[in-house]
Amino acid sequence: MKKGARAEILTIGTELLLGQTIDTNSAYIGEQLAAAGIEVYWKSSVGDHETRIREVLRTALTRSEIVIATGGLGPTEDDLTCRAIAAELSRPLILDQTVLESIRRQFSERRLVMPRNNERQAMIPDGATVLPNLCGTAPGLVIRLGGEKMVVVIPGVPSEMRSMLDAQVIPYLCKTFGVKSRIRSRTLKTCGITESALDETISDLIRLSCNPTIAILAYPGEIHIRLTVKSESETEGDRLLDDLETRIRTRLAEFLFGRDEERLEEVVGRLLLDAKATVAVAESCTGGLVCHRLTNLPGSSAYFIRGEVVYSNEAKERLLGVPRELMAEHGAVSRPVALAMAVGMRQVAGTDLALGITGIAGPGGGTATKPVGLTYIALASGDGATCCEYRFLADRDTNKLFASQKALDILRRHLLSLRYVGQI
Ligand code: ATP
Ligand code: MG
Repeated sequence: MKKGARAEILTIGTELLLGQTIDTNSAYIGEQLAAAGIEVYWKSSVGDHETRIREVLRTALTRSEIVIATGGLGPTEDDLTCRAIAAELSRPLILDQTVLESIRRQFSERRLVMPRNNERQAMIPDGATVLPNLCGTAPGLVIRLGGEKMVVVIPGVPSEMRSMLDAQVIPYLCKTFGVKSRIRSRTLKTCGITESALDETISDLIRLSCNPTIAILAYPGEIHIRLTVKSESETEGDRLLDDLETRIRTRLAEFLFGRDEERLEEVVGRLLLDAKATVAVAESCTGGLVCHRLTNLPGSSAYFIRGEVVYSNEAKERLLGVPRELMAEHGAVSRPVALAMAVGMRQVAGTDLALGITGIAGPGGGTATKPVGLTYIALASGDGATCCEYRFLADRDTNKLFASQKALDILRRHLLSLRYVGQI
């Protein structure tokens, strides 16, 4: 087998073409192959159709050394992958007694009678190496071909695919191809800065860095900076990533909130824990989203005390003591009302901190002076209360998400500032 082999991903299933199932398998396989230093040049999806599966496999084998196929290994009539691949490679399907036994055993362990059609899953192309499936019935296959090529077939069920890929396929490919250089990524997450401002701040680094490379990815309320490094060893890769991360951190300072899988609410939760501070949230337009996000984390009861969704003026008055006259004078979506919500919530809940959020999520309800997307977010603490005004320009769902993101970021920045003045 030659080094630097090209891989190609083939996902099989009509549901993928109809948009009923999003092809997450190829994203995962691509990521793992890249991490192992195996380059992917193509990927394609095809329906459960024997002729067309054969066609894409034929094309893939003209240009790639490794073809990794997922899906269509099930026991039903529409699962045609094995038959199509065997036919295309001119390998007869042969009953594999070991596979059949293992499928039988799985059924009997679950006190079930094996239906006859599961026998189909034990029909293996001649000469294939079987990869045992520890989470399901369909085994995986590695079929080595002449001309230094191979076809790897793994199940479509994402959890089965992942465990087989990680435990068996990737180690096998690394051993076979003697892969040395590895590609790894690190994601730095920012909020409170626009994509163009971020781009300006680090544009020279983006231009000059070739290893690691820098990519900017925008999501609602967050911009991510992905650093991708290619290196011979993990230590070398880490060093290169650390160096670049330090330079970016110096420029972006508090706009950077986390790394990789870390979520904003997680960072806020940790800061609240560190500060031994408690929080309560009064929400109008976000309908409980901020409370939901704050309570998504195990252990959140250490800092999250209470939340109120106060949609009507009456609820704002009765539950938080927001004066009726204040709402009549300024309107429910206003700075004074957001401040009164935060202060009232803090008093009622007896917490160190409280947020008050009021806004117009849209699409209706806007006026010339108070357009859709206008949102006020207030934070009350022992030192008083502050409020910020925002104009979000997206649809209702995204406006709610934006508001929740800002609210969490306000909490985060407040807790960070406590750190700087030495109150923690
Ligand atoms: P099984 O033995 O369960 O039949 P299989 O290998 O035949 O496994 P499929 O029947 O094609 O796999 O798919 C099983 C499940 O996995 C389905 O819910 C399908 O939507 C999902 N799935 C298949 N391919 C993908 C993919 N590329 N990305 C995400 N999900 C997928
Ligand atoms: Mg299928």
